Amino acid sequence: MSFAAQGESANRVSPEPTAAVANRFGDVVCPHCRLNIITPAGMVVRAGATRCIRCRGPFRVSDAVATEANARSLQGPAPRAAHYNDL
Ligand SMILES: [Zn+2]
Repeated sequence: MSFAAQGESANRVSPEPTAAVANRFGDVVCPHCRLNIITPAGMVVRAGATRCIRCRGPFRVSDAVATEANARSLQGPAPRAAHYNDL
C-alpha cells in the first residue's frame, strides 16, 4: 500500500511528453534521447510531427519551438524553405 498527496497524480503527466525543444543554436532536441538534430545550413525548422533520426521516437515541434529555433539559426546563413517533417 502506498499513499500520495491529493492532486499529486494530476501533476505527473506532462501535457506534451513528446514535445521537442530548441537548443541555443536553433537546433531541435529529441525529447527521447536528447539528440541535437542539427538544422542544415540554409534550412529552417517547420512545426509539426516528426521522428528522431537516431532513436526513431515520435515527437512534435510546436509553432513556438520552430519559431524560436529559426530565430536563433538566423544568426547564421540565411534560411531557405525546408523542413524536418519527412525525416
Ligand atoms: Zn531521439
